[in-house]
Parts: sequence; structure tokens; C-alpha cells
Amino acid sequence: MDRDWGSRDADFVALSERVRRRLVALAQSEATHAAVPLQGAGTFAVEAAIGTLVPRDGKLLVLVNGAYGRRAAEMAARMGRAVAVLECAEDRAVDPAAVAGALADDPAVTDVLLVHLETTSGLLNPLAPVAAAVAAAGRRLLLDAMSSFGAVPINLRETPCSAVMASANKCLEGVPGLAYVIAEAGHLAAMAGNSPGTSLDLHAQWRGFEANGQWRFTPPTHVLAALDTALDGLDREGGVAARGARYARHCEVLAGGLAALGFRTYLPPDLRGPVILTLRDPGPPFSFEAMYAALHRQGIVLYPGKLTGAPSFRIGCIGAINEDDIRRTLAAIGAFMRQGHQAAAD
Ligand SMILES: *Cc1c(COP(=O)(O)O)cnc(C)c1O
Repeated sequence: MDRDWGSRDADFVALSERVRRRLVALAQSEATHAAVPLQGAGTFAVEAAIGTLVPRDGKLLVLVNGAYGRRAAEMAARMGRAVAVLECAEDRAVDPAAVAGALADDPAVTDVLLVHLETTSGLLNPLAPVAAAVAAAGRRLLLDAMSSFGAVPINLRETPCSAVMASANKCLEGVPGLAYVIAEAGHLAAMAGNSPGTSLDLHAQWRGFEANGQWRFTPPTHVLAALDTALDGLDREGGVAARGARYARHCEVLAGGLAALGFRTYLPPDLRGPVILTLRDPGPPFSFEAMYAALHRQGIVLYPGKLTGAPSFRIGCIGAINEDDIRRTLAAIGAFMRQGHQAAAD
């Protein structure tokens, strides 16, 4: 990131090409898919995928068990696409049999959107059986893999999936500012002119890369360079399985330590992904805001804000952190809890 890349220079074109190849390789999809990077946050990639890949006369079925699914349904509706929603509780996994039933009942549906790891609660939805149900019904699957790509294996040779949307700064541990869609090339090629907008037109963005290796509009040069280096870090760690195991260990140590302090997890262990842990808010005298501030003073920054309907808070397990960081966090939470009880007793 220290280097001042020329955004139209041959070196940067080569860098873009390399990162695109590394992304399709991570999804085991070199033979079938193309990686289309996009300037911006992860949400931009979800919006671009829906707008470009769901035909204007198509219909999107969104599988909802959290805020990110709800947001995807809202985006599709605002772009004028026909939308149906199959919703279940935020502490339940998407049910593949219910998906098969919904597709049998509604022949108008052309595409289905699944949030792989619903970051709202940290729940890991069952990708393989949902993808199989969608493929068996002859529909396409769009996968929001924002918080799973790089830590949970996604193998598009085995899992039928039309598009995977993710970003640079979650499990790939890059910096924010870049998202991407790994899209099935045959379908992408057929979607010229389908996007309702210009800057999020994934087909046009892809044509740009294929024509001359160039980004259509000013690229986030330093962010892309950082992603290339972050991908080296993923390789050094041992790839997706090793990274997923490190995060899962963080999650397990956190859950165990917090249980010992009296906290209850929102999800049972079998539904939990390795990325973020949701805890039930025990209520007064406990205050998440007070705990957040106490930890912040020690240089430990939690994830503020809740998305679930239930009173809860979340602690992230991802990023360039190790088990010592998690144990230090647990010690700080333990000290806060003892102090809080002291204050309540006084
Ligand atoms: C973070 C996230 C998004 C949105 O990404 P932004 O970079 O915040 O726009 C979408 N879906 C899921 C599942 C996420 O975890």
C-alpha cells in the first residue's frame, strides 16, 4: 500500500489480473466462473449481482433468517425485480426442503439468494443441500458469502452456484474498499444491458476486464495491492481450512470463557459458524455500552450494535488476531463483570 500505483499502468493491470485469478481459484471455479472486482463495500457487490444477474422478467426468491437476507430482498424490490421471501426465525437454519417446496410452488422464480453465513447471528446456513435443491429445480443460486469466503470452504466444482459475492476485508483479512462477484461466465455473458444502473453493471465491468484488463472507473489501487498481499497471508496460513480452524478455535474459546462468566450464547453450537459469536444480553445491571467502553480503553474494540430481534451483543472471531487476543479479551470482560458487580453491591 506504500506504492503509488498508476491505475492504468501495465503493472496494475497485471495485479488486477492476478487477483482475479486467485479469487476464482479460491472458489475452485477456474473452468466456469469469472471474478469481477468492484469498487466499494460488500453491499455494492450484492446489489450489482442482483441487478445484473436476475433477468428483468425474472423473479428472485430470497431466503431470509437475518438482516442481510432482508436487505437483499429490499435491494431487489427497489431495482424493480419481482421478489419472494422465504423467511424463518433468526435462530433457525434455512431449511432445504422448504426451499424445494417454495420453488415447486412458484414456477416464476428464476433465481434464489442465500446468505451463507448470516452475520446477524453468526449462523452458518447449509449451503450444499440448499444448492442441491435449487439446482434440482433448475434455478440459479446467488450466494452472499461476505462473511464466509476465505474461512468456510466453497467449492463451485461440487456446489452448483451461479454467483458468489464477497469482499476484501472480512475473512480474506484485506482492507476495506473492494468487493467482488465470482459469476458463472455463460450467464454473465448473456446479461448485457440487464443492470438497471451503470456503475454497478457487473456485465460491463467484466467486459472491461476481458477487453483490456482495465477497471471501468477509478480503481481502489492500494486496496487491491493489499488484497494481493492478504491472499499471500491466506496461503501462508495453510488456506481456507486452516483459517477456518483458527477462527473456530477463537469462537470456541470465547463461548467457553463467556459461559464461565454467566453469559448464554444465542445459537446452539451446531448452528454456529466460526466468524462471530452472539451472546444474549443478560439485562441490567449488565450494560454492553459500559463493557464496550471499558474494553475500548484497553485497546480492545468489540463489534458495536446488534442486528438480531432478541436482546444480544456480538463478538467477532475473525481477522489478524490469535488465541492470546481472545484470552486477553476474556480476562478484560471478567474484570469488568467483577467490577460491575462490586459497583452494584456498593
Ligand atoms: C458484512 C456483510 C454484508 C455487507 O458488507 P458491507 O461491506 O458492510 O457492505 C453483506 N452480507 C453479509 C452476510 C455480511 O456479513
